[in-house]
Amino acid sequence: MPRVFIKTYGCQMNERDSEQVARMFVEGGYTLTREEQEADAILVNTCSVRDQAEQKALGKMGMMGKHRERRGHVVYGFMGCMAQSRGEELFDRIPHLDLVVGTQKYHRVFSYVDDILRKRMEGRMDEPSLSLDGNAVEEEGAHLHGPEGKIVDTEVEEGSQNTIRDHVAATQRPSAFVSIMQGCNMRCSFCIVPDTRGGERSRPISDIVREVERLAFQGTKEVTLLGQIVNLYGRTEFGRVDGKSPFVQLLEAVHEVEGIERIRFTSPHPIGYRDDLVKAFTYLPKLCSHIHFPMQSGSDRILRAMRRPYKNEKFIEICEKMKAARADLAITTDIIVGFPTETDEDFQDTVDCVKRLQFDNSFIFRYSKRKDTPAAEMEGQLPETVKEERNQELLRIQGEIAMRKNAELIGTCQEILCVGASKTNKEKLSGRTSQNKIVIVEGDEDQLTGEIFKVDIEDSTGYTLFGNLQPESQPVAVGL
Ligand code: SF4
Repeated sequence: MPRVFIKTYGCQMNERDSEQVARMFVEGGYTLTREEQEADAILVNTCSVRDQAEQKALGKMGMMGKHRERRGHVVYGFMGCMAQSRGEELFDRIPHLDLVVGTQKYHRVFSYVDDILRKRMEGRMDEPSLSLDGNAVEEEGAHLHGPEGKIVDTEVEEGSQNTIRDHVAATQRPSAFVSIMQGCNMRCSFCIVPDTRGGERSRPISDIVREVERLAFQGTKEVTLLGQIVNLYGRTEFGRVDGKSPFVQLLEAVHEVEGIERIRFTSPHPIGYRDDLVKAFTYLPKLCSHIHFPMQSGSDRILRAMRRPYKNEKFIEICEKMKAARADLAITTDIIVGFPTETDEDFQDTVDCVKRLQFDNSFIFRYSKRKDTPAAEMEGQLPETVKEERNQELLRIQGEIAMRKNAELIGTCQEILCVGASKTNKEKLSGRTSQNKIVIVEGDEDQLTGEIFKVDIEDSTGYTLFGNLQPESQPVAVGL
């Protein structure tokens, strides 16, 4: 049985896309392996959001080329955002690469790889680099043949958002990602996603509900709905009903699925974050008490330069409405520091906003240029030293807030969904509260994985909480 190794960089959407690809390989008779050296096919799902992610993917793929020396048939492929944005040029960077597949073609990866591998294994060609002779895979309309017969497929494909819908069967999957849309119509000046992922395309509610029902049937208790601008789900395809956006209609439909006890979504955009979504948190108890809500900057001037079409005041207003709708709500955010032309005053606006909103956590990024984005061409690029200083200062402020908020939870009782053994200590179990905080507990992995139960919080070290299972704790029914 051939083996496939898949390495994923970047966001949860990429993880979800990789899982879909993995599922197709499993259905096609392959085994998934964590050992790259024993794989017959090596795939890297790439991210273009930051230069560092691209460099890591290129470095990893370059290193893995050594396996071809021992096992000449190994097939190498890049897929995802970097594959989409760089296309054929990747063959120059990585000579052993066979395949470059873009973001609307994940569902084709299996057939491309399988075809190449089959031909190599059948020994039709002695020389692996010649095994694609220009007619390896015939797909109408696709740009399949890169240099020297290699395959590149980065075409747009209508309906491709509907192909990310299957999961790899797992004995225990307490929590799962569900991709509800692809692409983004916004044009933030620093972001390459609209180019790599294309325009917004949403899946029908009925398809998504069917996927969630299948997950619930297999024992999943928590789903995270994924989209680049998730709250704008369906705005170009489906209408409002009774004043509710398609996204709120979807939340209501998923809420009905028996067996699903927690619903999360990521990431919403301030545009389109209307009162119907705020209100949903008052009558849909399965919605978790956490939103990841990217702010990017606290300065209106910088928001304008970023082409983020809202003012800081609007962002604050939404956060405050959300906290009023759900008293125990945790808010996390994304912030870019050192954007071109950002002054000390602009940065101070961001600091003030972080202090005012008391985020539970912030993912803080130093601005870095992305090829083919307007921000990369802007005047007023800042020196790395300034970006680094601002980054460190904001990290320190956010760290203090997060530690204080987590320390306040010591002595409280929290409900967690146990997701299995802790990644850092296999002897212990890890779970998440509704606020998405990690809690480490002791207990029987077989008995507790996939269960929601109460724990007494005993300690906190920064971002991780430590608790004890309440002796009388039984799986908990969901309620506000
Ligand atoms: S909303 Fe802006 S940052 Fe988010 S994916 Fe779209 S363009 Fe990129």
